[in-house]
Amino acid sequence: MRRTYRVASVLGIPVMVSPTWFFLAALTTWILAVQIFPGWIEDQPRPVYILMALASAWFFFGSIILHELAHSVVAKLYRIPVRSITLFIFGGVAHITREASRPLAELLMAVAGPVMSALLGGVFFGVWWLAGSNTHRPIDAVIVWLAFTNIGLAIFNLIPAFPMDGGRVFRSLLWLLTGNYHRATLIAAWSGRIFGWALMAAGAVSLAGVDVYITEGYLGGAWLVLIGVFLENAARQGIFQNRVVRKLQAYQASELMLRNPPVVDAGMSLAALARGVMDLNPRVCYFVSEHGRLAGILSHFQIKSVHEALWDSTTAGQAMIPSAKLRAVGPAQPASDVLMEMETDELTHLPVVEGGQVLGVIGRDRILGVLLQAGYLRTA
Ligand SMILES: [Zn+2]
Repeated sequence: MRRTYRVASVLGIPVMVSPTWFFLAALTTWILAVQIFPGWIEDQPRPVYILMALASAWFFFGSIILHELAHSVVAKLYRIPVRSITLFIFGGVAHITREASRPLAELLMAVAGPVMSALLGGVFFGVWWLAGSNTHRPIDAVIVWLAFTNIGLAIFNLIPAFPMDGGRVFRSLLWLLTGNYHRATLIAAWSGRIFGWALMAAGAVSLAGVDVYITEGYLGGAWLVLIGVFLENAARQGIFQNRVVRKLQAYQASELMLRNPPVVDAGMSLAALARGVMDLNPRVCYFVSEHGRLAGILSHFQIKSVHEALWDSTTAGQAMIPSAKLRAVGPAQPASDVLMEMETDELTHLPVVEGGQVLGVIGRDRILGVLLQAGYLRTA
């Protein structure tokens, strides 16, 4: 993500601001100052509308921080660390480091934000009522707008479209009912994608000049399309993440680990370590390619035939057995024949080729190893 700036810290949680947020803040203030408040209360001087807009925006973003703080506090109660709260172009987001491990925890964590917004809406309405339920003073317009906006925020966030709060509530309920976290995530994420598409469609229709009731004009239409794209993307990411988690759940750490890694002394040099590869894997063997063609074979035999002091200045091409000296063997050729070929030309490795395609390489030591294992030889 782009760079964010730390502006405050609440309950030990840093509050960050993304540069994209300034666009949202400016847009909100502008719409309030030139459109909404002049429509509510007429005949006020322009500075009054600007002050009303600034005060509303200030408390609005404070409300968003409180909404995210509510999510964060519940997360902390469940011992899930919260990295930060960030304000960005689509509002706010709490960076909760991991998902809840139980459906009830997820339910409470998700519902806390909308509950906080609804409470704030109630508080603003209460303040307005205590102040005399006036409708024509600028301060009343600000308080009523904040009340409606917070309640609107609570309702919008409760739409069951993952990863919005309502989508998380929806998922936790499905999870609680079915006991299947993956299926719950998939269903909630698909409802999120469908909702995203619906917003994009509504925005596009609005841009075409049709009344879609929830918004009007080019700005509202474009905004709906943007939010739709953002939500659809986030929901799709949720599906992808779930797929990755499921894939990895099929493996245990013991299946993927390297058993008994070699132990080296801390004082050992890297050059010595690189040389040590030869000791750890004595059957090192490479195909050497030149201009995309097989130029030769380089095995531990050829590497060891060069003095260690010259390793830095010798290339693979210089040390390899060139392919002109090699004779290809077929994959079905009996190992006894292959060994015979090697013995006649004193070769240690031969490429296995079929229909002009190099399938692999067969080593003399590998063939002798079979004999060793079968007890036909004492040393290879
Ligand atoms: Zn929320």
